[in-house]
Amino acid sequence: MIPAVMPTYARNELTFERGEGAYLFATDGRKYLDFASGVAVTSLGHAHPRLIAALMAQAQKLWHCSNLFQVSLQKRMAQRLVEASFADTVFFCNSGAEAMECAIKVARKYHFENGHPERYRLIACTGSFHGRTLATLAAAGNEKYLKGFGPPAPGFDHVAYGNLDAMRAKVGPETAGIIVELVQGEGGLAMAPDSYIKGLRALCDEFGLMLVFDEVQTGMGRTGKLFAYEWAGVKPDVMALAKGLAGGFPVGACLATEKAAKGMSAGSHGSTFGGNPLAMAVANEVLTIMQEPGFFPRIERVAASLRKRLDGLAKSYPKIFVEARGRGLLTGFKCAVVNTDMVDRLRQAGLLTVAAGENVVRLLPPLIIEESHVEEAAGIVDSVAKAWKP
Ligand SMILES: *Cc1c(COP(=O)(O)O)cnc(C)c1O
Repeated sequence: MIPAVMPTYARNELTFERGEGAYLFATDGRKYLDFASGVAVTSLGHAHPRLIAALMAQAQKLWHCSNLFQVSLQKRMAQRLVEASFADTVFFCNSGAEAMECAIKVARKYHFENGHPERYRLIACTGSFHGRTLATLAAAGNEKYLKGFGPPAPGFDHVAYGNLDAMRAKVGPETAGIIVELVQGEGGLAMAPDSYIKGLRALCDEFGLMLVFDEVQTGMGRTGKLFAYEWAGVKPDVMALAKGLAGGFPVGACLATEKAAKGMSAGSHGSTFGGNPLAMAVANEVLTIMQEPGFFPRIERVAASLRKRLDGLAKSYPKIFVEARGRGLLTGFKCAVVNTDMVDRLRQAGLLTVAAGENVVRLLPPLIIEESHVEEAAGIVDSVAKAWKP
């Protein structure tokens, strides 16, 4: 009999009842070090007192009123994202896939507005992930996820990630833009060099294309800067955010320059829930915390020490790990053993992680971790690797 919850996930047996900082407490009475963060979402850990306070205060006043009215907290959040980024304007939605849907629409509408409705195709990279809606599935082009759901939405081309020549060769008269992740999160922590990202910018400038960064996973501090594009010093025209944006309250955002968003006038796009006061109260507080002095230098320190431990472990156990990968606290191992077995065994030993493509195990700790959490996680990985029997 089909379960009441549609069985679209291969879930493990754990149920959590409470979280505190970097820890989760399960109904089995055990405590887990949470280096999964709900897949890079609970960026400030669980039950952060300031996020609780922001949510509770807003909950007493107003939850929702729709975007038919002014939403002051939404204006404030948008203004702050504009000040903190390349963007001039922000559309709020509820998830990463929706943020990417908006990004795709912005890129296409830009050319339509400029008298080129034929320029609607977007070039994306193999191994990428952009969400589970029909357009974002077609954008990523992953056959496994597309199969069975009819013909893929038209208008997407695919080339190998990191290959600038292949990207250039794919640009044609119908090309509207390029969609890329700065680190492929779901794909297995592949990270294109800065020169590739710079090359994409130059390519977009040369052919008048929209450069779209999917920072749903890399954004909001995950890589050690507020946005991962800061590492390469390259600005996109459009960018999608979601996961860590409100620390676990569902919200997404599509950011764009004034030029890119030229056609996004009244009626061109919408979302019933997007940017409602509850979501915006929490998102504003997340950003406030991240913008406090010392927040990013601390992440850089703790991420460097985590990476050092992971590199050391990979070297100590070459039959278990191929290498450590990633950037900032979007990190992990490419495994020599089966990655999902590793995730299971780490969980049994008290450490939560997330599998990814290319046989990778992702470590996605909350951005608030301290040195002690790094030591604890490394100790668990070490004990699991040491005890590994095929
Ligand atoms: C998770 C993710 C998405 C999809 O986000 P949802 O909130 O699940 O729709 C899109 N792009 C990237 C890079 C992601 O990591």
